[in-house]
Amino acid sequence: MKFRPLVVANWKMNPTSLKEAALLGKSLSKLSLSFKKANLVIAPPTIYLSAVKPSKKVFLGAQNVFWDKSGAYTGEISPVQLSERGVSYVIVGHSERRALGEDDFLVNKKARAILAEGMTPIICIGELEHDSQGKYLAFLSNQIKSSLKGMSKSDITKIILAYEPIWAIGKDAKSAMEANDLHETVLYIQKVLSELYGRAVAHSIPILYGGSVKEENAESLMREGAIAGFLVGGASLSVKTFVPIVKAVDSFRS
Ligand code: PEP
Repeated sequence: MKFRPLVVANWKMNPTSLKEAALLGKSLSKLSLSFKKANLVIAPPTIYLSAVKPSKKVFLGAQNVFWDKSGAYTGEISPVQLSERGVSYVIVGHSERRALGEDDFLVNKKARAILAEGMTPIICIGELEHDSQGKYLAFLSNQIKSSLKGMSKSDITKIILAYEPIWAIGKDAKSAMEANDLHETVLYIQKVLSELYGRAVAHSIPILYGGSVKEENAESLMREGAIAGFLVGGASLSVKTFVPIVKAVDSFRS
């Protein structure tokens, strides 16, 4: 199954002013005009959603969402509110949110609420440690099964999985996952999905990789990893570090 390659920019809690966010959003939109195949999802902090103007190649993303549509939930943002602001992709279950107490049950509830509003959930999974005995595979399998619980085949064809090994996040390119290891893990994820939904559906789900993606490793991860693109954290905060990654994805021939 061929996908339009996708690069997701997760700005996390950066930058610290609307002015900087708007400047980065504008520069990326301008540069996106030269991308042939790659689409971008830019997920700024919710307060700066207005800094990114969606276009044919640039989609607006959110970093989190609540599971209910409205009500007495102080400080939360609902899927309806995100959709109304033009958001089409929502990251859910990022390891930094899981570290704050978000579990698979909540990830599943949020993912279903995102789907119900017609947006695409980008469901993050990933192990804390990549042990040599392969225990991490059982962990991933459980995480996938619990995060997707109760989803129909039709739901599942509308999701994106982001495989983000926690040990590889926020480091230099050398500490990122090796491309051949990534390929093995992606095959394993597809096997788990095939057992749940059948081979054809499993292969229709785009799998992104996230964890210290940089200009230096983007091309090899794409080539050997059999992935649909990347979720990028730190390197997505500057044009200089982000655009070479998008270019590597854009020029990749599958
Ligand atoms: C992330 O936090 O989702 C991530 C991939 O971060 P980084 O690219 O900085 O490793």
